[in-house]
Amino acid sequence: MCVQCDGFGKQSAPTGFVCAATASPAPAGPSRRRFLKASATAVAACAATQAGRVAAQTPGVDGELTRLQGQRRILIKGGIVLSMDKQVGDFANADVLIEDGKIREVRPNIAASDAAIVDGTNRIVTPGFIDTHHHCYQALLRNILGNGLLDPDYGRDIADRLTAVYNPDDVYWGTYVSTLGMLDMGTTTALDISQVCHSPEHSDEGVRALKDSGMRAVYAYSRGAGPKAMYPQDIGRLQKTYFNSKDQLLTLALGSGLNKDLFTAARNAGVFTANHGVNHRTEKALADLNAAGLLRPGDEYIHCTQLSADSWKIIRDSGGKVSLSVPIEMAMGHGMPGIQGALDAGVRPSLSSDVDVTMAQDPFTLMRHTFNLQRLLLLQRMQKNEPNLPPLLTTRDVLEFATIEGARCLGLEAKTGSLTPGKDADLVVLQADRLNVWPLNNATSCVVNLMGTSNVESVFVAGKAKKWKGALVGVDEARVRKMVADGRDGVLKRANFPMNLFG
Ligand SMILES: [Zn+2]
Repeated sequence: MCVQCDGFGKQSAPTGFVCAATASPAPAGPSRRRFLKASATAVAACAATQAGRVAAQTPGVDGELTRLQGQRRILIKGGIVLSMDKQVGDFANADVLIEDGKIREVRPNIAASDAAIVDGTNRIVTPGFIDTHHHCYQALLRNILGNGLLDPDYGRDIADRLTAVYNPDDVYWGTYVSTLGMLDMGTTTALDISQVCHSPEHSDEGVRALKDSGMRAVYAYSRGAGPKAMYPQDIGRLQKTYFNSKDQLLTLALGSGLNKDLFTAARNAGVFTANHGVNHRTEKALADLNAAGLLRPGDEYIHCTQLSADSWKIIRDSGGKVSLSVPIEMAMGHGMPGIQGALDAGVRPSLSSDVDVTMAQDPFTLMRHTFNLQRLLLLQRMQKNEPNLPPLLTTRDVLEFATIEGARCLGLEAKTGSLTPGKDADLVVLQADRLNVWPLNNATSCVVNLMGTSNVESVFVAGKAKKWKGALVGVDEARVRKMVADGRDGVLKRANFPMNLFG
């Protein structure tokens, strides 16, 4: 719709621009003229941009993509490889051989005459990024809380008023567009805390959207509201219906809190708990669960703002995993991100984007905020001549947090997180010769400190191209845009929630 198209701007103007079919009332008053003018410009941009995108993503039009999709072996040739596996190492110039969806070999000069070739010249090849905590359904509401705080804005507007009116279709389209956005930005794995399970149908649609996206995902079954909510007991049905195979991209967790009954439900289902909202105010609950012997290796602790050293010790000693949402925590008032607390306790954290009602989902934003904040805080201590300071984070540390530590957090390190032979081929090809980063002088710093989503050229999940040469593969973007805009309009209308396009 018009508002959406204007929002996207010229660079990625929507496909199949369908103003008349999906338009909701345009803003009144002086802003209406600006709005219409911007829309007309965007229509022209849509047409031009769209021609290129369709050509790039349609098999048959792009012969290289067609060949790629038809081959069981793919060879990414001559790339700069950051494997994130110390045994495999890094290469200034190497090949990555994918066979039957798995990484077969990483080394220079691999001969594979039967493989489809992907030119890696001036490309950095890294593992796909991993986002260990996001609320995908909320993508219908992207940016609607641009200047909001956790308390009271998020709780009042998003968690209560808007989430309450979601129907199962809204869960589907929100989750679907969220995961497509992540794939577009280089994120190949995410944990979805789906706090919208108002009925079994809502949960079904969340799982279906994750499956349809083709990304690797952990569905963290979570609470809902209303008389049809069956949390947490419906986890048994979900597990039986959707998660009975180990050989699939989707796995299951329980979106939880530090609560004995929920931990017991997760144990009975044989899944880990993804504990949301862990902070200094929940330390007693954490200590009580620990004393009761209910914590298990692999449980995930999210946010962990302002935790004491004792709580960090409990998490570490129980084999817990940690997800930090540094940009959101800084912007929305969650408290000081726990980067240093984790590191001081010997816990290597993973990174997460949390909600895009306020902040970007992309891995570059997550990495840079983490790098900058830890260094700022340490450098301030250094200026005060504090002795025995811990080390400053490096770009390699942060790239590990966004890849292999993410895989460890989600219990998926045997499948993803590094370019290790035998693992599934979840990887991204990053353009290092674009003028926003050229010339290339340091590969890890280039990825962490200089690159952005415009550098994400191609994305593979289990060896399948999900993004190819700048465009998502096999996605009907026009339909997605229409359904997402319609879903957004319905949610806002039912909640009687005003949209403020310029606020
Ligand atoms: Zn969250």
